[in-house]
Amino acid sequence: MRAVLDIGLISAKYFFCFLLVLFCEGGVASRNLCAADEPSPPVTWREAYEHLQKGRYEEAEEAYEFLKKQSATKDDLPGEFANSPHPLTGPLYAEIALARIDLETGHRARAYERLEALKKLHSEQPRILGLLAWYAFLNGKLDVAETSAQEAIRMEADELWARRTLAEVYQATGRLKQADEGWRYFVRYYNRVQPEKAEELLLAAEGSLAYARWHTGKQIFDFVLNTLCVDALKADPLFWQAHELSGRLLLEKYNKPQAQQEFQAALAINPRAVTVLLGRAQAAAQDYDWDESNRLAREVLKNAPGEPLAHTLLARSLLFSNQPEAALEQLQLAKAICPTDPITTGLIVAAQIQRDGIRSLPRLKVLLESIDHVADLPAAADAPEAYESTLIAAAKINSACGEVLSTTGEALEMHRKFELAEKFYRAALAVMPQLTAARNNLGMLTLQMARVDEARTMLDQAFKSDPYHMRVSNMRKVIRQLDGYATLSTDHFVIRYDNAQDELLARYMAKFLENEVYPQLVQQFGYEPSTRTTIEIYSKGNGQTAHEWFSARMVGLPWVQTIGASTGMMIALASPNGLNEPYNWSRVIRHEYVHVLTLQQTQFNIPHWYTEALAVRNEGYPRPAEWNDMLRKRVPRRDLRNLSNLNLGFISAKNGDDWNFAYCQSDLYANYLVERFGEPALEKLLLAYRAGKTTEVALKELFQTDIKDFEAGYLDYLDKIVAQLPGQAQANTEYSKNDVEAALEKEPRNAEWLGRAAMLKVKDRRRDEARKLAREALEIDPHCATAAIALAELDLRGEAPEKAIQKLTSAIDSTQPDHQLLQRLLPLLIQTKRWDDALKYASLAETTFPSDISSTIALAEILPHRMDLPRYKAVLEKLSLYENEESEYRLQRAEIAWKENDLPNMARYAAMVLEIDVTEPKAHWLLAEGLSGVKPEEALEEFSIACKLDDELAEAWAGWAVLLHALGQLQEARQKAETALALDAKNARALKVLNK
Ligand SMILES: [Zn+2]
Repeated sequence: MRAVLDIGLISAKYFFCFLLVLFCEGGVASRNLCAADEPSPPVTWREAYEHLQKGRYEEAEEAYEFLKKQSATKDDLPGEFANSPHPLTGPLYAEIALARIDLETGHRARAYERLEALKKLHSEQPRILGLLAWYAFLNGKLDVAETSAQEAIRMEADELWARRTLAEVYQATGRLKQADEGWRYFVRYYNRVQPEKAEELLLAAEGSLAYARWHTGKQIFDFVLNTLCVDALKADPLFWQAHELSGRLLLEKYNKPQAQQEFQAALAINPRAVTVLLGRAQAAAQDYDWDESNRLAREVLKNAPGEPLAHTLLARSLLFSNQPEAALEQLQLAKAICPTDPITTGLIVAAQIQRDGIRSLPRLKVLLESIDHVADLPAAADAPEAYESTLIAAAKINSACGEVLSTTGEALEMHRKFELAEKFYRAALAVMPQLTAARNNLGMLTLQMARVDEARTMLDQAFKSDPYHMRVSNMRKVIRQLDGYATLSTDHFVIRYDNAQDELLARYMAKFLENEVYPQLVQQFGYEPSTRTTIEIYSKGNGQTAHEWFSARMVGLPWVQTIGASTGMMIALASPNGLNEPYNWSRVIRHEYVHVLTLQQTQFNIPHWYTEALAVRNEGYPRPAEWNDMLRKRVPRRDLRNLSNLNLGFISAKNGDDWNFAYCQSDLYANYLVERFGEPALEKLLLAYRAGKTTEVALKELFQTDIKDFEAGYLDYLDKIVAQLPGQAQANTEYSKNDVEAALEKEPRNAEWLGRAAMLKVKDRRRDEARKLAREALEIDPHCATAAIALAELDLRGEAPEKAIQKLTSAIDSTQPDHQLLQRLLPLLIQTKRWDDALKYASLAETTFPSDISSTIALAEILPHRMDLPRYKAVLEKLSLYENEESEYRLQRAEIAWKENDLPNMARYAAMVLEIDVTEPKAHWLLAEGLSGVKPEEALEEFSIACKLDDELAEAWAGWAVLLHALGQLQEARQKAETALALDAKNARALKVLNK
């Protein structure tokens, strides 16, 4: 299962502020200016501006230091506002640029000090005051920010930086009505002034967007994206800030592909733009790609030390991997730079909760209810908890601290503390009803918790205020789809399904869950959920595939890599009937139900790896053959995860193998636990998690061992497993042309390399050279597999399979056969129906390479021709377990049981077919036959389903007739027998029924 979590978004304004909060990455820029000891040559204002926009900060700094001593006309200054009544002089323009360089290279405080000094000399210049206000805000100095902004506005009503700062300050101090007015100013300003300069356009865009987020602002989103950003770039093609804003806006709506394009375009102009790099880090974090997100954040910090958002991103990743202390360290660094940032504060609260837990839920309730008047809170009897102090301090500055609460909610939700997260989202909306992000998150969370009707109302509201949010929009569509679904309720489950496509599946799933899953698992875990578990089966419809609906259900986006998943409160599946390949739905549903039980039982306080380990263990199948091969490869070179990073294997695996291996390793951690401490250890550990303990504490308390010792023992255990694996690993190394040529240069008479060279020639269609090389190799080593395969390929191209087979077989070393050779040979033997040889070599392959299930699959094809029924049955039984996504082996096994009149196996394997494919008529028929003697009622139903699915199945009609006859329903028995005879005039059983 892929965890269904949502990191949520960092509200945009803290994310960036163009012209200012940017920064750099360490590309060494070529320096156009001369070294300091030479006199600086003249540089133009335009050149300096280009350095700045392209992130050549060192050159820009040098240029502006030079230029600030020069005079300039308004036309000299790129980007300067056209109609300002208080135009900047050259030196002031240069100082402002230098402050921006400070900011973009991580010196926020220095940028502020620079403006402060400027103000002392130029208090008559509103832009200086406006920017001073803005920098003060970025440094968390809200008082200075407010007074400077007001001063600036008194001098020049349209001082945009002051306007923006003032709206921010109002918002940050809970004066929401004034903040709203402040944002609305920008919409009016744009309509009134129709600005043309890039910076003015972007400020108008930022303000209008903030306004739009609080209102129904569909047109404004459109307008910002398609007009303002586009116009800004027309006015100034170097103005990457416009790309950045578009990217951020798109990312906010979960349109990641387009967002990435915009970020790329911004970086093409300024590869060191901090806000853009952080935007990309943010996008990675949305996918739980913490490695990438951390890499980008660290890159940012290297070049812009102290950039607060980089610290908060690192903190998110640490919170995710349950390291609240380390997260708090990062957050304190962010706080030191900007103490009033609500994102930082919200994450601090989450980290403190993660570290300390919540001692009293009633006290949390009171605090959240009084958050907008904390001064009235009665003094608590005992000292406040750390998180309470943080919240109260934040609420004293901002009585409408919805952003703080919402951020805490997101972090708690990420940690699957759904109920707590909901409390924080609701509290956020109570004090700040216009907070779209909280409304979106609450609606989506409610859906994850399977409260569909409630979610519908919330998501409708969320959609109204944020119509571009892709996840919200998709989840609303999912709910509409669900509305058309049927419901099947049992004692412990509520199954929702598409009646036209999945009626049969829902019936069998219900039966399977109630009979074979629920009693067994509930007993094993000693836990019963308090409510019935909802299971939603998505099928194709309304232009979407089953898998797309399923994915949209789980994450609001059309790409989840599994076919089944659970939030812990509900389970969703893509219907096997809606996929190209059916899958073993029974295995998946059992796996997911283990998640439901273990997550609920521990109140979601269970590491991801452990719930997966228990889920895999309970699937009831042997370890997949491919896992053994991965173990053989990875264990010796210690290419392994450990308990500190295993959880990430499920979320940000490098590739499919890595992802699968996380399951394998988790399963083996559980096995190791059992081997070392006995079977009850599994339950003990669960109970420890339920009590809120960490793995480390649990190991110490329960088993008197520490993590280090446990990990060391686990590695020994893996070594032991690998040493005991039968047979050999399959080799599948690929060699490039260069590898081969280099190796042959060193060892021209090495058969193996000659053989590989021959293979490459075959691929290049250079037959003669290939043949020559291969023969040379075989002269040196008659068992050289690659050379034999190369020659065989040439024979096959000449359509001479006999010759090919001969070359391959003569190269086989029966004491040490080559895997590739056998793999190439077996299909040829089967194609040419050489059953004896095929049997011989398939058997050899199976014993030598047991991790390669393909030889067993070959045996299933060969054995029917060799009259070795016991062995054939054994092979089919093995494949029923190892190839447990395929129904055909199970069906074949059931059919043999039919021929042998072996009723129990007939019923058993037929039922196993239905666990993969409920629409297979023969399986229903064979199940019916198998059950006839023991459960006649069920058998009658199975006969009827079989004949409905395939009304030409004579034997099913006949069997039905026999059973009805035995039950004394003579007339019906006659009817069925007649139908059987109509299909097969000689059907013995039907004839017998009629003759009776
Ligand atoms: Zn799972």
